[in-house]
Amino acid sequence: MKMSQMFFNTLRDTKEDDSKSNYFLTKAGMIRKNSAGVYSFMPMGHRVMQNIENIIREEMNSEGANELVMPCLITEEVYEKAGRLEVFGDSVLRVKDRADKRYILGPTHEEIFTEAVRDNIKSYKNLPINLYQFQTKFRDEARPRYGLLRTKEFVMKDAYSFDKDYENLEISYKKMYDAYHRIFKRLGLNYVVVKADTGAMGGLLSEEFMALADIGEDKLVICDKCGFSSNREVAECNTQVLDIKEKFMELEELNTPKACKVNNIVRDYGVKSANIAKTLIYKSDAEHVIVMVRGDREVNEVKVQKFLGSKVLELATTEDVRRLSGADVGFAGPIGMKLRIVADSEIKNMVNFLVGANKTDYHYKNVNVQRDFIVDNFADIRNITEEDECPVCGGKISFKNGIEVGNTFKLGTKYSEALNCVFVNEENKEKPMIMGCYGIGLARCMATIVEQSNDDNGIIWPMEVAPYKVTLIPINSEDEEQMKIVEKMCSELGNEKIEVVIDDRKERPGVKFKDADLIGIPVRVTIGKKASENIVEFKLRKGGEMKEISVEEAIAEIKKVCR
Ligand SMILES: [Zn+2]
Repeated sequence: MKMSQMFFNTLRDTKEDDSKSNYFLTKAGMIRKNSAGVYSFMPMGHRVMQNIENIIREEMNSEGANELVMPCLITEEVYEKAGRLEVFGDSVLRVKDRADKRYILGPTHEEIFTEAVRDNIKSYKNLPINLYQFQTKFRDEARPRYGLLRTKEFVMKDAYSFDKDYENLEISYKKMYDAYHRIFKRLGLNYVVVKADTGAMGGLLSEEFMALADIGEDKLVICDKCGFSSNREVAECNTQVLDIKEKFMELEELNTPKACKVNNIVRDYGVKSANIAKTLIYKSDAEHVIVMVRGDREVNEVKVQKFLGSKVLELATTEDVRRLSGADVGFAGPIGMKLRIVADSEIKNMVNFLVGANKTDYHYKNVNVQRDFIVDNFADIRNITEEDECPVCGGKISFKNGIEVGNTFKLGTKYSEALNCVFVNEENKEKPMIMGCYGIGLARCMATIVEQSNDDNGIIWPMEVAPYKVTLIPINSEDEEQMKIVEKMCSELGNEKIEVVIDDRKERPGVKFKDADLIGIPVRVTIGKKASENIVEFKLRKGGEMKEISVEEAIAEIKKVCR
């Protein structure tokens, strides 16, 4: 490919700089933002996406999965059957056709894969089966950001396995799990696998493939001692119950004007945050519930939702808080409010602490559980902190930031039961199929590679995903000797199926070198003055020294590094 014929240009600068990947991919002319969270892939960027797609396809096919394509446009009825319109809530994009029939733009595809299998497979003899597609998904993100990392429209590889029993699900799951490891290794990603919340998918187990990157929005908990790794959302806290010897003091009302936050109380009244209990009011489906954690802790909503078994959990509205507590937000407390109270286990260990008084500008001090109010349930409902110990071995844990590039779920029968996807087993009995599902976001992989692999000059693509493996730069594209070498190298490398791009643009060499570094092509060969001596300049994008070698040596070297 000749760059003079390519729809390609790099930018001098860009304001798309909320992440390194957004900045470099935009500047390198690989992606173009159309609107918030919606992107075009330009030819150079599209090639990277195709390479990623091909790696995934090869590994999926090698495990016997079947590629097909399902529509993006899905009728609302299908989504309602498994109760997911409610779960996805405002993130679902909806459309109506001319007859007012309602559709959604699919955020994920469990339902229609389940229906397809239900209508086509009736017997255990045709199981297991694994189906996958590359398809555009839509999610109405409230705050799209970081370029390709959080978008409204994205291509996902989603796969679905169907088995006759749980033993076979284990086998199907393991195949996908192993394929994912091979895929992310080939993509050159530095990643870990963590236990995660099953969230909107539901089911029995979820594991996430998390690429480590500072910009990652997921907090990962990692124990170096035993190898435990988990998304913080689901990491258990080992709270020891202490033997309390301190005497209970008399309950007192404390005037705390405007102190509606833990920070204000700490600053203005000298109370330690660990001696304050936060009281939050949540709406769990139709019921309001009080949730309590220590003042220096965060409520873990995933744990709360799981504990309560709620479909939808959200903080109560300001109006509801006022109505239920009789006070402004920030002054609610457990004493006297007639709601179910779920408290974090740590609250058990607190003595003479501070809570809101359900009266604007007032708190109670010297509060004690069981004397002053009754907790309905103690449970682990807080976020783990770095001071907590490893829930498995008791060792020291650390936090890392991760970008979720893939996930695998053991779904069980959630969808097959809801959609009546059944088969007849060996004993001639009807059973629901046992499902798994497996996703990878392609553009997110692309951006994550850039997050992990770049320098001041631009992107450094790993060999397998690079848009081209080699760039040939003739200093003067009108020089016959130089162009002869370019042609010779092109044809020899072409025979080896090594993709080459020729920068024959009428630009200064400095511009071409800068662009080559920015777009991150792994090998750069410059053909200049020494062309008449059969000598070229060879340089690797990643940490390579520039060296002068013969054309034949250059070809041999390229074949070696492209392996
Ligand atoms: Zn451990």
